[in-house]
Amino acid sequence: MVAALAVYKKMDLSTPYHLSNFINGTLIAPVKGNYIDNVDPSTGKVYGEIPDSDKEDIELAVKAARSAFPAWSKSSNEYRFKILNRIADLIDEHSEVLALAETIDNGKPFWLSKKVDIPRASSNFRFFATGIMHFASESHQMEDRSVNYTLRQPIGIVGCISPWNLPLYLFTWKIAPALAAGNTVIAKPSEVTPVTAYLLSKICQQAGLPAGVLNIVHGTGPSAGEAIVTHQEVRAISFTGSTRAGERIASLAAPKFKKLSLELGGKNPNIIFADCDWKKMMDTTMQSSFSNQGEICLCGSRILVEESIYEKFKTEFVARTKKLIPGDPLLEDSKQGAIVSEVHYRKILDCITTAKKEGGKIICGGEPVIPEGRCAEGFFIQPTIIEGLGPDCRTNMEEIFGPVVTLQSFKTEEEALLLANTCSYGLAATIWTSDISRAHRLSSRVESGIIWVNCWLLRDLRTPFGGFKNSGVGKEGGWEALKFFTESKNVCIDL
Ligand code: NAD
Repeated sequence: MVAALAVYKKMDLSTPYHLSNFINGTLIAPVKGNYIDNVDPSTGKVYGEIPDSDKEDIELAVKAARSAFPAWSKSSNEYRFKILNRIADLIDEHSEVLALAETIDNGKPFWLSKKVDIPRASSNFRFFATGIMHFASESHQMEDRSVNYTLRQPIGIVGCISPWNLPLYLFTWKIAPALAAGNTVIAKPSEVTPVTAYLLSKICQQAGLPAGVLNIVHGTGPSAGEAIVTHQEVRAISFTGSTRAGERIASLAAPKFKKLSLELGGKNPNIIFADCDWKKMMDTTMQSSFSNQGEICLCGSRILVEESIYEKFKTEFVARTKKLIPGDPLLEDSKQGAIVSEVHYRKILDCITTAKKEGGKIICGGEPVIPEGRCAEGFFIQPTIIEGLGPDCRTNMEEIFGPVVTLQSFKTEEEALLLANTCSYGLAATIWTSDISRAHRLSSRVESGIIWVNCWLLRDLRTPFGGFKNSGVGKEGGWEALKFFTESKNVCIDL
């Protein structure tokens, strides 16, 4: 903790600090001069302010992005490759500072920010910098009649809007391919976790990213977010967040015929068969249930266990979960940190109350935690396990997005499949079995965009990423992202 606090002081983020928008290469105040409080969820205290931007700020960002577009879109792939790699290098160079900022803003353990969030942010830039160097398009020949070739051109100004759970990780996952493909970008991080996006503005300045190519505007969804979504000159929106906000964004963007990519919520099944590799399954299930306080859209919040091993699983799972005591995220031995905000903390506790009202039995956790010392007024919840509920109650249908999982048992593969698919979401699923035929069979029938067999969160950035059903529309990752951020145009030549 002492080491973490020392870095914190060096960061020039001493309390209270004031964030700025990054528009046309410059850090500037919001036009109306309005700000929103930023709270450290581990202490419950306001520790800074962020711009409460609106239409006027977005207008400035559009103006900057419009002027930057001709040069950036015509720049060579190699030039963009170099700049994006420079950004990646600077993220690595400042990784301690960024990790600490992420932890203070979000409440996640410092070790997790260092190990996962920040390394992934630099990987995102490196991955798409390299990707654009290899991006190619198709050609189709009609025997001796004609040849068609496909041009993939940058779209223009695009909007990227991201959530609070993996702040810099997901922010850069959108920005990097958009920039690599030659677009200019207006990006808005979550108002709940804005600091690493602000630090990225400084990194972009240092990396020599031309002015106006990336504009980072802070503020709320209804104000700054909707001003991006509805602006006529913003031609594509890449959004990650809740299904509720996704629905609203789709309703605003669709009548304007914008390209849309929506990465939304999840309520993912973790399907465990008796023939699994027990130790690997148990270790991984601990992570897939509670990593990042359960605030990962890919967490397996519905655990489906074959009846013959249900009691054994429950006993070990509860015993291990009881040891996951939430605490000060700056401490290296805190396995769980704080819930991101008071609003979200109350929502999770309400969901636990609902589960009880629905007849669910809380077999582990279920209560707030009050750590001693500096975090006594922070937002902490015990990792919680609920059993005794069927598939169609609210607890098993609605996303909780916290350290709360349910257990259900099944007798047959068909029943497991039915439970897995009884849900309006379809983001990810995990299957634990050593029967390879069953793994293939179920993988093709579970209605989710991502299936992990005998693993979880093993990500190859080249693969398509995105959900089915209410978990979203469109795919991110690899060529999918570069295709999304370009417009394809067919050129037909009569031979
Ligand atoms: P949220 O929808 O409240 O906010 C996400 C972002 O959208 C924020 O920047 C917010 O300001 C903005 N926003 C909100 N309303 C808007 C509007 N009307 N117009 C424009 N922008 C708007 O989500 P959250 O609470 O920040 O994040 C948690 C949600 O994100 C969970 O549902 C989680 O499953 C989902 N998520 C999905 C993925 C995925 O890849 N599918 C990844 C991470 C998180």
